[in-house]
Amino acid sequence: MKILLVDDVQMERMQLAIRLKQLGHIVEMADSGHEALRLYPEFKPDLVLLDITMPEMDGFEVSSQIRELYPEWIPIIFLSSHDAPEIIASAIDAGGDDYLIKPVDKLVLRAKLQAMQRIAFMRNQLNKKTADLARLNQELEKLAHEDGLTKVRNRRDVDKKLQEMVSVHGRHKVALTVILLDVDFFKLYNDNYGHIQGDQCLIKIASALNNLFVRNGEVVGRYGGEEFVVLVGHSDIYQAELHAERIKTAISSLFISHEHSQVSECVTVSQGVVSIQPTGNESIDELYHMADKALYQAKRQGRNRYVMYDPSMECDSLNE
Ligand code: GH3
Ligand code: MG
Ligand code: MG
Repeated sequence: MKILLVDDVQMERMQLAIRLKQLGHIVEMADSGHEALRLYPEFKPDLVLLDITMPEMDGFEVSSQIRELYPEWIPIIFLSSHDAPEIIASAIDAGGDDYLIKPVDKLVLRAKLQAMQRIAFMRNQLNKKTADLARLNQELEKLAHEDGLTKVRNRRDVDKKLQEMVSVHGRHKVALTVILLDVDFFKLYNDNYGHIQGDQCLIKIASALNNLFVRNGEVVGRYGGEEFVVLVGHSDIYQAELHAERIKTAISSLFISHEHSQVSECVTVSQGVVSIQPTGNESIDELYHMADKALYQAKRQGRNRYVMYDPSMECDSLNE
């Protein structure tokens, strides 16, 4: 261990240092409390042996300051020729872990150092495990919000986000946009190019959407299968149209060949767009329903396009 030995009496300091070195430890010496506090951060000891009675700053004060300044725990063992119970109690109060009576018995010294080393080792292990757990938790947290294939937000996360956005936009009386988009003729894409290439196609689309919507209040997620959802906060019907236009351009600019598409040589998407100023009481299902109605119309009207939701679409379905 790296041991910081603090004692104002040179003779006692030297004798103890020799013993500690004989036991195989690395020793740094300080002849005062101030010197100990100066050496502490640069030497980074594994253990401090601390005399109690010293002029200017006694061992209790040094220990209290170490505990206050450095949250990373290391053992502190006090040294003193006094063995009064009150002094021992004060030493523990001041942040000490153990107490040695001077002159220090060689065997007792060795045993106490061994015990402290054991505790320090277990503590290090615990710290490592805690750090590992924190890292794992972070990864889990990320996984819980992410779609496994495309790495955009998963459905559950988008639902949650939309719910929050509905309340906030309702409170502030501003519009928000929901865009549902669905890849055109994707079954034929899979049939022709295989499921693995189909997956790659979805990854590219997700990544293109992610690059388009990076601002605060912009959310991209996988709605399910080959359908994605984009939420844009503070976005009225005119801005919603611009966003849909940007999506259309970005997807066609990917130039993913699709020989069997009946509307283009490349992969395209159809979009249902809804922009409303919510009251805050709407359910997310109502919003999805509207976007889905518009998406259905986009498919019907020939795909590779976006359609804005219109309440008259509700009547259309009754007539169909
Ligand atoms: P439309 O233009 O009307 O949307 O036609 P479509 O072929 O895209 O629609 P349909 O619903 O018939 O087919 C969707 C296809 O998407 C079928 C399904 O196998 C495929 N699909 C859904 N999820 C995945 C996925 O994670 N990976 C791959 N490769 N294919 C998927
Ligand atoms: Mg679909
Ligand atoms: Mg489709």
